[in-house]
Amino acid sequence: MIGDFTHGDKSNQQEESSLSTEVGENEFDMVISTLPTPILIKIGKNLFPADYLSKLKKIKYLHAVSLILETNQPILQKTYWLNIVAPEIPIMGIFQQTNFVNKRHYGGRHICYFGWYVDEKDKLWQMSGEEILDLVKPYLKAISNFQFPISNYYLFKSPFAQPIFDKDFIKNKPDFETPLKNFYIANLDMTYPFDRGTNYAVKLGKTVVELIHEKKGF
Ligand SMILES: Cc1cc2nc3c(=O)[nH]c(=O)nc-3n(C[C@H](O)[C@H](O)[C@H](O)COP(=O)(O)OP(=O)(O)OC[C@H]3O[C@@H](n4cnc5c(N)ncnc54)[C@H](O)[C@@H]3O)c2cc1C
Repeated sequence: MIGDFTHGDKSNQQEESSLSTEVGENEFDMVISTLPTPILIKIGKNLFPADYLSKLKKIKYLHAVSLILETNQPILQKTYWLNIVAPEIPIMGIFQQTNFVNKRHYGGRHICYFGWYVDEKDKLWQMSGEEILDLVKPYLKAISNFQFPISNYYLFKSPFAQPIFDKDFIKNKPDFETPLKNFYIANLDMTYPFDRGTNYAVKLGKTVVELIHEKKGF
C-alpha cells in the first residue's frame, strides 16, 4: 500500500520521486500513477501545487459494491447482462457470468453478480454481504422465479471505482503530465469521454509510455 510521495532534488541534480510504503521507502526516476484521483490527492497532498490539487478535488467518484453468488442453477436463464432502472427494485444490475463464460471454468457452479455504484453515504456501502443478500432475495423471486439454494456468496467493495463525467469534468480532468517533472498519471479519469474499461487501461498504459519515450528521446 502506497503511503506518501515526496519529490526533490538529489545530488546529481536529477529530480527523483521517493515513494514511502508500509514496507519502506524507495526512489524512482519516474512515477506513473494509475491510482483513482481521490487516492492520488490523499497521498500527494504535500507534493502537488495547491491550484492543481483543487482542480483534482472537483472530480467526483462513486464506489462500487459487487455481490457474487454461487448457485447450482442459473439465476437468469438466458440473459448475461441485465440493467435495472426501476426505482422500486434496489438492484442496479444482475450479471449471469456463466451465461457468458461456460460454468466449467467455475468448477461447474453458476456465477451471478449484482452491481451497484454508490456514494459513501449510501447504506449499501456500510452493509455486510448477508444484509445485502437479504435485501435482494425477495426481488430475485420476482425477477427470475429464484427458488434454489445459494452455495456461497462473496462481497467486494471497491472505493473510487467510477469517475463521474459531469459537465464540469473536462475543466478538471488531469492530463498525462502533471506539474511535477517525471510524475505522470494514467488513470480512470483519462478514458473521457468513454466509460472506463480494461481495454482503455491498457491503451492508456501504452500511450503514457510512448509519451515518456518521446520526451526522453529513448
Ligand atoms: C464492478 C466493476 C465491473 C467492471 N466490469 C468491467 C467489464 O466488464 N469490462 C471492462 O473492460 N471493465 C470493467 N470494469 C472497469 C475496469 O475494472 C477498470 O476500467 C480497470 O480496472 C481500470 O484499470 P486501472 O489500471 O486504471 O485501475 P485499477 O485496475 O483500479 O488499478 C488501480 C490500482 O491501484 C491500487 N490502489 C488503490 N489505492 C492504492 C494505494 N493507496 N496504494 C497502492 N495501491 C493502491 C488498487 O488496488 C488497484 O490495483 C469494471 C469495474 C468495476 C468496479
